[in-house]
Amino acid sequence: MKLFTVGPVEMNEETKRIGGCQVPYFRNEEFSEVVLHSTQLIKNLVNASNNSQVLMLTASGTGAMEAMVINTLSEADTVLVVKGGTFGARFSQLCELHSIPHIDVEIPAGEKLTRDILDKYSANKEITALLVNIHETSTGQLYDKSLLSSFCREKGCLFIVDAISSFLADEVDMKKYGIDGLIVSSQKALALEPGLSMVVLEQSLLDRVNKINPKTMYFDFSDYITNANRGQTPFTPAVQIIYELEQRLESIEAEGIDNIILDTARKAEFFRKGIKELGLSYPTFPLSNAETPVIFDSKVRSAKSVYNELLLRYGYVVNPSGGDLADKQFRVAHIGNLRMEDIQELLLAIKSIIEEDK
Ligand SMILES: *Cc1c(COP(=O)(O)O)cnc(C)c1O
Repeated sequence: MKLFTVGPVEMNEETKRIGGCQVPYFRNEEFSEVVLHSTQLIKNLVNASNNSQVLMLTASGTGAMEAMVINTLSEADTVLVVKGGTFGARFSQLCELHSIPHIDVEIPAGEKLTRDILDKYSANKEITALLVNIHETSTGQLYDKSLLSSFCREKGCLFIVDAISSFLADEVDMKKYGIDGLIVSSQKALALEPGLSMVVLEQSLLDRVNKINPKTMYFDFSDYITNANRGQTPFTPAVQIIYELEQRLESIEAEGIDNIILDTARKAEFFRKGIKELGLSYPTFPLSNAETPVIFDSKVRSAKSVYNELLLRYGYVVNPSGGDLADKQFRVAHIGNLRMEDIQELLLAIKSIIEEDK
């Protein structure tokens, strides 16, 4: 079995070795050191300010999205939500559920986010924050960070970014783009087990956490901040994943994050070229290096049947697309422990499946 999915992804040997060890006790100096070190490495990798805070949550990415929404936004806000797929819809749903006034910026299927679309909201003085999944994983679209960043700067509103599927695949730079809050998660390009998510809060959001009292105990950021200062968490964290994280971050730092992004970009480019040569296509809007949606012409074969054959005959797992798109496309990820040869083999497998019909 080989995973070409967005998450979980193929893990490194070191990660699997750590994952197979006895979980140690954690309310001690030794574990605090691991947390504090990992926190510093995360800050360096996303270029966060020195006085920002990194909070470790034992939750999947959606838990971190919800925690971010309820700790930093309130009924006094008007939040612009970029809604171009299922993850954007999730942010909208979270605002709705927690009675946070929001305006959804609907991105029609297949279209890219442009300044024209945002300009409709430029004159709205009530907007206080923008929520976006910078790589909308359900469609593959990588939104224009400069565009969103300058919109937020002009409006003086908060810029809160879910970079769960973009971190390590595309450039993520908090200072450069004026990002106030960032969310990352363990099971995408970090290539760890699912269950650990991290939020990075700049001063602007730390100030808000001080004022907002969300109705939650498990996700109360004030509690996490007090604990984070001494390298701890209020409740039992995903201890083993934090050990995996420290090792992985050290290795990323040694390799250089730019080299990792470049390597992912090369794999994406190689795959997309191969897809074109097979007569298949992918969307024309800007794509994240993390994945490629592969579009099947109905005359060729349904995406679903190719998906099934890949699994059955080769043990290759790709990401099926949901809903209306299930027959038309699947998504192939380029993150995790994959080599160029793996991508070559996947292309050959797709080729032999679709050529059978000719
Ligand atoms: C994977 C992902 C999440 C997290 O989803 P979970 O299933 O809760 O882990 C959130 N946002 C984006 C953009 C993602 O790709």
